[in-house]
Amino acid sequence: MLVLPYAPLRCRNCSSVLNPFCVMDFAAKIWICPFCFHRSHFPAHYASVSEENLPAELFPQYTTIEYKSPREAACLQSVFMFVIDTSIIEEEMAFLKSALSQVIGLFPDNSLVGLITFGTLVHLHEIGFSTAPKTYVFKGSKDVSKGQLLEQMGFFLNKPKPLTGVRDGLSSESIARFLLPASECEFAINSVLEELQKDPWPIPADQRASRSTGTALSVAASLLGACFPGSGARIMAFLGGPSTEGPGAIVSKNLSEPIRSHKDLDKDSAPHYHKAIKFYETLAKQLVHQGHVLDLFACAVDQVGVAELKVVVERTGGFVVLAESFGHSVFKDTLRRVFQSGDKGLGLSSNGIFEVNCSKDLKVQGVLGPCASLEKV
Ligand SMILES: [Zn+2]
Repeated sequence: MLVLPYAPLRCRNCSSVLNPFCVMDFAAKIWICPFCFHRSHFPAHYASVSEENLPAELFPQYTTIEYKSPREAACLQSVFMFVIDTSIIEEEMAFLKSALSQVIGLFPDNSLVGLITFGTLVHLHEIGFSTAPKTYVFKGSKDVSKGQLLEQMGFFLNKPKPLTGVRDGLSSESIARFLLPASECEFAINSVLEELQKDPWPIPADQRASRSTGTALSVAASLLGACFPGSGARIMAFLGGPSTEGPGAIVSKNLSEPIRSHKDLDKDSAPHYHKAIKFYETLAKQLVHQGHVLDLFACAVDQVGVAELKVVVERTGGFVVLAESFGHSVFKDTLRRVFQSGDKGLGLSSNGIFEVNCSKDLKVQGVLGPCASLEKV
């Protein structure tokens, strides 16, 4: 595949890309879009275009090419938001901490890292505040809206508000409190991990651990939505059991109620299923619009509720790793490969947008694969 080191030239009317099927008027330096028949002038850097001097994108044999604009490539920044379940047994906690501390040094240079832990409550860690560790605590049983989140965290809007605030007018100081550059985060993340303990709330003998997965994911999504909409970010959730608290719960805390089985789903008799699906569908939609991804590391002998959560993973193009324990090599190796570069790495990318321009009489019916519609007509 030919890769051109500049940005594509687009039709000003329908934003189609200059291609070998365009009709050329070399004398007038004009090209006609084959999709909408709009006539566009060549920009100054195409001034030398002639029948004998064609740019590569007009060669008949290059009907498929790639563009890699140096400016776009340089400003690509990835954001990793770790969402960690603390309602797990001590042994699992130790495995998870050790696996995480091993990948801290592997984060890509230009990436930003944030940290949320959850159990009964959701803790958002202010890792950019170096003198004393600080966390913001959210009630796990109640969904937090983006507005409430920003208010509680004392996020200050830039004043005067920028005309086109790509970041909702959030000040960069606000963002830097929660998302640290990878090169500076090692100490902060390690010290949070060291202090990290199993959810301290007592669990009665007849109950399941309290786990507010939905609220934690929602807080992560809203924070990323406020800070980096439209820029590649991944929420990486490390789950050690089913969500039992707040929106997105898949089973009640009462152990007398069994976790839904295939049979229950078949018979449509799983009491929490539809409510949970509805919550996760809304979350999926939010993440798709923000251009963000959810990845799940579900490591437990018990179920963690992937049947309900998968809608978010599928629509955002994330991945799921299933293992019985955070000590299992499947989990540890995959986590390492996420951050490794070169042949050993998984080569993950995010925020890909697939745009189809076609002639007037054609309509796109759909797409196969892990995609979600941006609902642009
Ligand atoms: Zn056009």
